[in-house]
Formats: sequence, structure tokens, C-alpha cells
Amino acid sequence: MSFLGSQQTMHKSDSIDKTHWSQRLVILGIILFAVAIALWQLVPPNVIPATAPLTEFSADRTMPDLKAISQAPHPIGSAAHTAVREYLVTQLKAMGLQPEIQTTTVVQPGDGGFGAGRVNNVLVRIPGKASTGAIVLDGHYDAADTGPGASDCGSCVVTGLETLRAIRAGTPLNNDLIFVFADGEEVGMLGARAFVTEHPWAKDVKLAINFEASGSRGAAVMYITSRNNQRLISEFIKAVPYPRMTSFSPAFWGLLPGAQIGCDLEEYTARGSGGFGFYYGGDTPAYHTLRDNVTEIDRRSIQHNGSYALSLLQHFGNLDLKTLTATQNAVYFNILPNVVLHYPESQVLPLAIVTSILFVAVVWLGFRARTLTFKGISLGAIAFLLSAIGVVVLNVLGWWLMRSLNRSLQVLLIGNYQANLYHVSFVVLTVATMMAIYSWLCQRFKVDDLAIGALFVWLLLTIASSAWLPGASYLFAIPLLFNLLAWSWILLTRNRSWMGILLLSVALIPGIVLLMPVQVYFGSWMARFEGIMNVPLSTLQMVFTALLCGLLVPQFVFFTSFSSVTSRSPRWIVPGGTLLIGAILLSIATFNSGFSTAHPRPNTMSYLLDANRGQANWVSSDRHLDPWKVQIMGTNAQQQQIEFALSPASSGFSAPAPLVNLPALEVQRLEQPTSSNKSALRLRLKSPRQASIAYIDLTTQGTIARAEIDRKPLDLTPLTPKQRQALKFIFFGLPQEGIELNLELTNSQSVQMKLEDYTWGLPAIAGSAIAPRPADLMPAPGHPDYTIVRKQLSIAI
Ligand SMILES: [Zn+2]
Repeated sequence: MSFLGSQQTMHKSDSIDKTHWSQRLVILGIILFAVAIALWQLVPPNVIPATAPLTEFSADRTMPDLKAISQAPHPIGSAAHTAVREYLVTQLKAMGLQPEIQTTTVVQPGDGGFGAGRVNNVLVRIPGKASTGAIVLDGHYDAADTGPGASDCGSCVVTGLETLRAIRAGTPLNNDLIFVFADGEEVGMLGARAFVTEHPWAKDVKLAINFEASGSRGAAVMYITSRNNQRLISEFIKAVPYPRMTSFSPAFWGLLPGAQIGCDLEEYTARGSGGFGFYYGGDTPAYHTLRDNVTEIDRRSIQHNGSYALSLLQHFGNLDLKTLTATQNAVYFNILPNVVLHYPESQVLPLAIVTSILFVAVVWLGFRARTLTFKGISLGAIAFLLSAIGVVVLNVLGWWLMRSLNRSLQVLLIGNYQANLYHVSFVVLTVATMMAIYSWLCQRFKVDDLAIGALFVWLLLTIASSAWLPGASYLFAIPLLFNLLAWSWILLTRNRSWMGILLLSVALIPGIVLLMPVQVYFGSWMARFEGIMNVPLSTLQMVFTALLCGLLVPQFVFFTSFSSVTSRSPRWIVPGGTLLIGAILLSIATFNSGFSTAHPRPNTMSYLLDANRGQANWVSSDRHLDPWKVQIMGTNAQQQQIEFALSPASSGFSAPAPLVNLPALEVQRLEQPTSSNKSALRLRLKSPRQASIAYIDLTTQGTIARAEIDRKPLDLTPLTPKQRQALKFIFFGLPQEGIELNLELTNSQSVQMKLEDYTWGLPAIAGSAIAPRPADLMPAPGHPDYTIVRKQLSIAI
């Protein structure tokens, strides 16, 4: 049986022989083997039992702590948050340590205003024997207000506690260790910022290690590092037993506007410290929901965190931390679950040049063998580019359509409960479509032209990424290199036997092993963006599958070419069958996309009182009503734009609510300091109902020359004169005694203020009890049941 020749040679024998099918199975076997190796990278290591020596990290030993910490949502400013901090301090003292609580107010610029809060970091320092600097292990102990935070970030806190125990049980290290149990991460990394900007220990920090979670399971990935990390990466790989990492991740995140990931690590690396950031992100719908609990969490993910934490502290704890910086970044990636390849970025361009030369050699060999033509390769490249783009567009449109038709996908959730099955279905459908396209194309064009044309697109991607996104270049350069090597052997030996396709399929393995895990990571990031922006982005990850299809051209042709020419061409059997499998999987995913007690439907409900008008409303940002909401809102809920400071404007439902007598934020005018020559305004803002979140929107006709929140000056220098007529901020963790707002104004006769304060939970309504949510409902992530009191007032200067 010949293959990869022109169609003429392919149709020479007269029937489908059995060997051909067994050969197809072998090729399929190789592909599935590569897929298995790729997916194996997503599996965390096994849990070390609690009976292990104390010098080891045991995820089982962290369970009592995790249960204690993640009983209930514990956002900054809540009573549960205080309880978690007290538990943490008790545990640290029980270890014989003297934890320090850093209490301070932090103010930082954010989107169109400032974010501020009163934070309480819990800090522990273990002095080294001969310190060259300090290593920070950071994990935040505050949680989102819509979930108990077992993963985000109870897992980070217990990783810190268990690592501390293991370190203290082992031989002392040279360098100082600082454990930062940070506060206020969920409301803008306030605690980490407080530590790095205000705490005297911060100047010693040479390396920061940060843990995060945005799901409830999966391998912990080292997804972000500091710049010029070549030395750090090579030491990292020596140290950790189960590395999972890709330099694609920092390269991709660096592309985003602002290049902000939104984790504590950025606070350290922005101030020059080296750093490693970890997260695990399997089961994204658990993120910031009630399902982020101890039962749902996969202990292996904590074990994986611990394997990094302990080995990194032990390794870097004895290195000279002053020598960690390099002059360049490293490119790094897993080739097997625990095997990482890395090289300095300076080798990226040489690699691209070698690949380009090899490509030219392959083309020359093809010209010489008369199987390739310049025109043919160009058409092959265009054909691949158009079909790959077309298939990705189809995926995005298909997902948009499914989201428009399926109400279960129209909820506020990060990802969906059937995300994995949807993912597999879209991969199968993408491959089937590309196979069908190539089955058709190979009737009109020569296979070699089509295959080398697709590789030309890969070459362009290699060159472009090598020039502009070196951290991602390996994704293209290495798979291409292997394919070109296989092609040069085929064209050199002019061997068109079964050996050729076998070789090409083996050469495919690096592509699958490198791209597939990245596709999964990328998919979880897209699910997050989809949840935040409410645009269908999840299937954008199919760009990786579509690209891989460019390496699969010979296999597509092999799978769809049959030597018999009957009236009903069997070349549609394989793509048709694959399409059918994809459609069945998609149907199963859709059929199971509904909600249950195991997979609760997220919904939202808040009580909004306008103190000026004496009017109250139930408001919900959901797109659809459900019986629980109807029971609260009544049957005449109106569709309306819903907007309050902690919820971006969105269409939702509103209905009149009974009036509950709740006091609004109190604005007290304090004595003005006499030294000031501009008009000064000193205010005390206080919540008589002890709300812990306050929002202030202040405007004036004049200019705000200076502003201080809780005695922390605001940096107004980047603001335009127009922007200086207003000041907006949210304060988290509002103390009982309130905060002071000090302003210096020029040319102002008065200020207008819009105020909101927030408590968690709906108010008690006299004479009617609000039923708690049934077990198949839960608050949507980031949308707890708020009671909001809104007020407007004007103050004359
Ligand atoms: Zn977090």
C-alpha cells in the first residue's frame, strides 16, 4: 500500500485491504498515545499520607486546618474572616512561633477610582543561619464573598502552614523565610501591597513564591515568573519533583492590556523581587462559589502545591539569593509530566533560523523529487490558513449559538459544569471538519503541496513568535522541526511506503504533547474571560487544535483515501464517523448542561434601599427569573438595567421591596485644620449599621488638590484636571469607628456625594420570611446577596 503519493498511485490497488485498516489503527494509536502523554501533565501527584515523617509535606495533614478555615465565606471585613485569622494565629503560636499582625490601610488606583481597605496581614519570619536575603511564601487568607474558599485560597494557607511545619522539622536553612498570610487579595491584592510597600521586612525579599487557585482540582502550574528568569528557572527545575510549567503563560499574559494577572505575586515582582506564581484551575465553575469547599477539593492539588513550596524553600533557602538575576528569560516547557526542557531566549532566534533552513532544504528536496511546486506550496499554505481560521470561527459561532439557545449557559458562572465534555466535543468536531476539508482538497491538490504548505504557515508562526513572543516560540519551532526532519527523510529516500506515514506520525508526538496542555490552560483562562465579559470565548482554544491539524495533513489523507473507487466513495467514512462522534458528545454535554444539587444554578439577589427617596427594591443581575426569585420579587419584576458600585451595569430584574429602616453611611464634618490656606474638608465616614464595604463618589466644581483616605494620601498626579473634579473609591473592611476622608479643594463651594454601603445577606422583612435558597441554587460567583443602602448629599464648603 502506498501513501502520500499523487492520487494516481493511491488508486492503483483495487480494494480496501485489511492491512490498511490495521495501519490506520496503528497511526490512531500513536496519536492517542501522544494525547495521553499530553493529558498526563494535567494530573497532580499522589497524596503523601499523614503518617509520613514531619519533614515531608502531607496534604492529608492539612485537612483539619483546611476544614477549620473554609467553613463559610470569609471576605475581608466579615466576622468569619476575623475567625480565620484568629485560627491561623493560634496554629502558628501552637508551633511556638510569634506571628506578627500588620494592620494598615492601603489605597491604590484602580479602574476609574481607588480601591482601599483596612488589612490585617499575618506574618512569620524564620531567620536563617547565614542569610543572603529573604524568601517570601505568600498565600491569601481572605476569600471571595460567595464561597468558603477551600481552594481559593484555603489551599494556599494550609500549604503555608504545612510547609512551615516541615521546614521547622528539618535542618535549618541559610536564608531567612517570611510567610505572608496575606489579607485583601480578593479586593485588589491589598494585603500584599501593604506588605511590600510598608513592612520593614519587605526590603530583604529576594524571591517570592505565591500560590493561587481558580478551580478545585488539577495540577498546580507554575504560570508566572519574574523577568530575566533564566537562572531562576534552571534552579527551579533542579529543585522541584513535579514541575508543570510553560513559558507560553507569562508570554500570553504579558500581551494583555495592562499585563496584570491579578495575583499577589505581581506586588513583589513589580518591586524587583524574583518570583514564581502557581495556580491550579481544573473545574473552573467551582471558582468563588459554594462548591469551592473541602468536599470538592482534590487533595492532590494541595500535595502538588506543597511539593513546590517545600522543595523551593529547601533549595533556594541554601542558595546565594544575590546571584539569582540573569540578563535574559528562559524558554521552558514540559515534555513529560515531570521533565522540563529549558533554554535561554538567546537560543530562540538560532532555533528559528535552523528551522527555516531545514524548511528550505525540504522544499528543495521536494522540487528535486518533483513532488512539490512553488505554486502548490503557496496554495497549500493558503488552504490551511483559510480552513484553520474558518474552523476556529465556526467554533466560536457555534458556541455563541449554543449559549444563545441554552438557558443553562446564560448564567453568571466561570465556565460551565460540562466544560470538559464540551471541550472534547469541540476538539473532535474540529478534527473531523479539518479531515473532511483535506479529504476534499487532496482530490484537487497534491498531498505534498498541501502538507508542506501547512508547514509553511507553521514556519511563519515560528518566525513571528521567535521575534515577538519568544516564550511561546517553542510551541511552533519544535513540532515543526520534528515534522521537517521526517519530511526530509521521506523526500531524500523517496520512500513512499508505510514507513513514511509511520515516521510522520511519530514526528507528530511533540506537537500534540506541547500544544494540548497549553490548549487546556488557555481554555480555562478563556472561560474566566467569558465569565467576566459575557462573550463566547471558550472555544477560542480550538486555535491550537486547528493548528495541530496542519501537522496532520498526511494522516488525514491516509485516513480518507481508499483504493477502491466505487459509486459511494468510502473516503467520507472516517471524517463522517468522527463528525458523528463529535455530535454525539456535544449532545450528551448539552443534555447534561442543566442544574442539580451537585451542580447548583448560580443566581443573584440584592436589596437596594434609596435612603433619600425612602424606596427599596429587590434587584437581580440574572437574565432569567427562577421560582426562588419570584417568591422574593413577586410576579411583576421588571427587566431593567441594574447598577451599583460592586456590580457593573447589566440588564437584570428589579421589583419594589418592603421598606426596612436601615441607616445610610453617616458623614460627619470634623474640625478643619487652621494651617491650611486652601479650603479643607475633613469628614468622618461611618456606617451605623456596621457595614464593612463603603463606596464614595464625590464631585465638586473646583479641583481636588489633595486627598487622604484614613490618613493615606492618594496619588492624584496621573489624573487630568477634569478627573480631579471627582473622587471615587471603595473601602473594604470599614472599621466600626469609621474612616477619615481629608480633602483640600480649590475653587469649590460645595461637594456632592453619592454613598453606598454594603452588608452581606438580605434584610429581615417584618411579617415575611425569605426562604433560603434550595440546594440546587447558589449565589453567583462575585455576586453575594447584598443589602445596599444608597444616599446622596451635598456639603457646603
Ligand atoms: Zn485567590
